Amino acid sequence: MADNLPAEQSGGADLPSTEHRESGTTPETPRAGWLAENLPPAVGGFGVSFATMFRKVYTEEYPEEKRPTAPRYHGRHQLNRHPDGLEKCVGCELCAWACPADAILVEGAANDDTPAEEGGTGRFSPGERYGRVYQINYLRCIFCGLCIEACPTRALTMTNFYELADDNRADLIFTKDQLLAPVQEGMLAPPHPMAESMQERDYYLGKVSQATEGQRAWVAEQSEDTTSADPDAAGAADDAADDAADAEGGAA
Ligand code: SF4
Ligand code: SF4
Repeated sequence: MADNLPAEQSGGADLPSTEHRESGTTPETPRAGWLAENLPPAVGGFGVSFATMFRKVYTEEYPEEKRPTAPRYHGRHQLNRHPDGLEKCVGCELCAWACPADAILVEGAANDDTPAEEGGTGRFSPGERYGRVYQINYLRCIFCGLCIEACPTRALTMTNFYELADDNRADLIFTKDQLLAPVQEGMLAPPHPMAESMQERDYYLGKVSQATEGQRAWVAEQSEDTTSADPDAAGAADDAADDAADAEGGAA
């Protein structure tokens, strides 16, 4: 064993020191051989434990005190919006195909510019399609981030939110409503048309900065039509009108 060899035979000064494993002994003492042959592996292994015992104990007072995560921590997902409120997801399913845990379910559908009174379902994203159904199963997700790497529109990103424990399985399957980013200042909740004179590529070139007057007028008109055609839908229409008013106020 190298520990018992003279320095010149064991590689001399190039070998790591064994001093910590033979504390209180020298190679010349009669017990040095026994220690060198029997104790070093055990002492080396317990060394980590002993060193830990004397370190300062740090107790996290979670959940009362939450430490901030690293900026790029992989937490809960978010489906992002364009600045006018249209969704960035185009329902391509690339995220679902990239997921090694089969945790994502996407069903795309075609955007519909047919007026609502003629049965149109409206436009939810610029371009051809949008994600009609979007689910992430957090019982399966391993937070690897491959899905967000695969997303071609940056619709899917990951937040720093990590409190995802629950007491039943169903609540850990997040739906599109839960994953969609909130409608912020200057946005209008879809469905609504694309910004006037803009095409799909213009959204990715950053030419759309907020909902336009034309889009707000369209949403307000749809709300009125819905209210007059179906009194029972008045509540839902009021919500849409509120969204429009909020966005209008924010854009002012
Ligand atoms: S983070 Fe990984 S495991 Fe989770 S949904 Fe995305 S690809 Fe799947
Ligand atoms: S989140 Fe991205 S990758 Fe997934 S369906 Fe939507 S656009 Fe495609």
